[in-house]
Amino acid sequence: AREEDMNGFKTLLATTALVALGSAALAQDAGYVGIAMPTKSSARWISDGENMVKQFEAAGYTTDLQYAEDDIPNQLAQIENMITKGVDVLVIAAIDGTTLSNALANAAASDIDVVAYDRLIRDSGDVSYYATFDNFKVGVQQATTLVDGLNERFADQKPWNVELFGGSPDDNNAYFFYDGAMSVLQPMIDAGDVVIGSGQMGMDKVGTLRWDGSVAQARMDNLLSANYTDKKVHAVLSPYDGLSIGILSSLKGVGYGSGDMPMPIVSGQDAEIQSVKSIIAGEQYSTIFKDTRELARVTVGMVNALLSDAEPEINDTTTYDNGVKVVPSYLLEPLPVTVTNWEERLLDSGYYTRDQIE
Ligand code: BGC
Repeated sequence: AREEDMNGFKTLLATTALVALGSAALAQDAGYVGIAMPTKSSARWISDGENMVKQFEAAGYTTDLQYAEDDIPNQLAQIENMITKGVDVLVIAAIDGTTLSNALANAAASDIDVVAYDRLIRDSGDVSYYATFDNFKVGVQQATTLVDGLNERFADQKPWNVELFGGSPDDNNAYFFYDGAMSVLQPMIDAGDVVIGSGQMGMDKVGTLRWDGSVAQARMDNLLSANYTDKKVHAVLSPYDGLSIGILSSLKGVGYGSGDMPMPIVSGQDAEIQSVKSIIAGEQYSTIFKDTRELARVTVGMVNALLSDAEPEINDTTTYDNGVKVVPSYLLEPLPVTVTNWEERLLDSGYYTRDQIE
């Protein structure tokens, strides 16, 4: 009887091992995902890539992660290459959201689904879903923190002189950020509380091609020398931390941040480490935290759904018209960050460790 027990036990063990092996093999077979990211020059996209690879692999997928260093032909070649390699799904954060139509038509011809990641892909019917943050709200939060800062630092100096910066005109998000910010600032301009010293308004005037910090710095230099020799600028709307760094160095270059020239209020986006440090040092005023772990989670969910003919989690079916279709979207919540809440938002959430910042 003992031996029988023992044999039974061995069979059980063997079966368990086989089942485990089988599901491991299955798990690795969930699918092959091509992930096309825009650039490594900004830390947020590195986090996006890392988080996606980690979460896709944990769900049993194989991944091919590529960065295109903000070069459009490069990104197109990477996507074509992924199609050739036979990926099941493409996850794309486009450099220029309007240049991918042909590539996506090729993907569709090979039955490859496409998820637009963070940035909407325009002018194509071949985009299944869009995973992003509430981009209009990002802009609202940027302008709201700007006004909070103005009230804190320059309450007695109304009307406030403000300059506006926009993101890259080929990035659909840039218009949402700008429009969100203007929904707060335009009424204040109309009321005479805010003056755009240079008069430069609208994405065609204030856009910053490829989100390039040195372009923003050069434009800020020009704005200061053309409009602020006999008055002070109180705030600069910046849609991205990398631009804020350029804007702040321009401001520091003419003496802001020392003596009788307090640093203007400068916003940002992405909570990149260098900018969080700048906020703690009292230079940049605010940024917007977009948790890339959450964006990766939503994206993996969309891919799972696409590959199993299920319905993914969607919370917006009206906002993101790409010119051909309204792309079903999931919008995550952005969170404003200032010197008063950075620990709670960025450390308590486990996004950064204290020694990364301090
Ligand atoms: C993203 C922002 C980022 C910007 C520059 C936008 O599409 O949504 O988070 O700051 O690109 O990389």
